[in-house]
Amino acid sequence: MKYLSIKEAIKKGKGNVDIRGWVYRERGSNKFKFIVLRDSSGIIQCVAKKENFSEKQWNELKALTIESSIKITGKIKEDKRSPVGYEVEINKFNIIQKADAFPIAKDKGIEFLRDNRHLWLRSRRMTAIMKIRSTVFGAVHEYFRKNSFYEYQSPIFQSVQCEGGSTLFNVPYFKEKGVFLAQTWQLYAEPEIFALEKIYTIAPSFRAEKSQTSRHLTEYWHAEMEMAWASFDDILNHGEELIKYIIKKVIEKNSEELEILQRDIKKLNISIKKKFPRISYDEVLKLLKEKKNMKIPWGKDLRTVEEDKLSELYDTPVIVYNYPKKVKAFYMKEDEKNPKVVHGADFIAPEGYGEIIGGSERESDEKKIIQRLKEEGENIKEYKFYLDTRKYGSVPHGGFGLGIERVIAWICKLDDIKESIPFPRTARRWTP
Ligand code: ATP
Ligand code: MG
Repeated sequence: MKYLSIKEAIKKGKGNVDIRGWVYRERGSNKFKFIVLRDSSGIIQCVAKKENFSEKQWNELKALTIESSIKITGKIKEDKRSPVGYEVEINKFNIIQKADAFPIAKDKGIEFLRDNRHLWLRSRRMTAIMKIRSTVFGAVHEYFRKNSFYEYQSPIFQSVQCEGGSTLFNVPYFKEKGVFLAQTWQLYAEPEIFALEKIYTIAPSFRAEKSQTSRHLTEYWHAEMEMAWASFDDILNHGEELIKYIIKKVIEKNSEELEILQRDIKKLNISIKKKFPRISYDEVLKLLKEKKNMKIPWGKDLRTVEEDKLSELYDTPVIVYNYPKKVKAFYMKEDEKNPKVVHGADFIAPEGYGEIIGGSERESDEKKIIQRLKEEGENIKEYKFYLDTRKYGSVPHGGFGLGIERVIAWICKLDDIKESIPFPRTARRWTP
């Protein structure tokens, strides 16, 4: 038997159809049983008339519970009263499994839903988010492949840190000191650009974020690129084009899902059309002082509050570049004209969604890298493999990392990044 998806059945619009799925809603009377059936493609109302079934069958239908799995054969026709404009009159049915009482009901709080994420995943809301998530992953692959990047993988178990010791996960690994989980692919990506030149990945990154925020996970998916012969501008251009491409694809493929999430598509569209403003760190301090009455001493990193205030001034992501060297990682290239700042940039999303991309041109001077690693108290010997990249045919290069969940949270306008990933991990949550 050939089963149609609910969407295909609605498209067919008339005649007999075989569909299968899960009971999304049910109600009944003495004569009728209404079932809203759900599958991955959508929902449809089905109706059974008592007169068409034996008593045994009718009792089975009457006892049907939410989330029971069922196959239905029936006649589809237009019906203005039903939620999607079509209805299936049931001729035959086969209950595959009658579900236990489903724990998720309307009035449940956010923590309950997170405790039951394995079931909450079936909600229309989570389904919409997961479909958009799938589009985002696909768009990242498409963008980089269209631009002749090779997909490349770095290790998750790593022997050195890259983004600062405070968010490192140290795990046991035979040897005494254990190893670190990847915070980024970067130090293991740079060696490969001397062979493949343009590479990208989508992989999990791990950060031991101790504080609870609505935009930090301890395990998140990181889309990263690294490119030989690249100027700082080349890196920023790719970041901007990638974001535009992702949003374009989501609007193209997921208009239904954006509607379920009540996301205003017009707001997203602006970021496809307009060029992202690029402003230096120094200009940001001036702007925040003039427009938001915030006084930030030069040299301090921008925190969440500052990023959010800045994002209020724009309706697209804004690219902040040339940060003070002391707040950025050891590998970022010193500015030729002003050694106090580095060619590093953060993309700050609009609507208060924070940093979505961090990127930089990489320092080419081995001595400067060694100097900065020493200042951070690192053991230079452990970085030999990385420092070798600067010894044998070094070229200007750079790259960036995009936080997939941050981008999804923004696109879907979620209250919390934890809703953008199937099973969120934070300092306080690692189950289910
Ligand atoms: P933040 O200051 O917001 O913690 P970061 O400066 O630590 O970010 P990077 O090290 O530049 O971030 O990482 C690259 C990208 O990865 C960020 O732009 C962001 O989109 C994403 N990201 C970083 N940390 C997390 C996290 N804990 N959870 C989810 N995404 C993250
Ligand atoms: Mg961080």
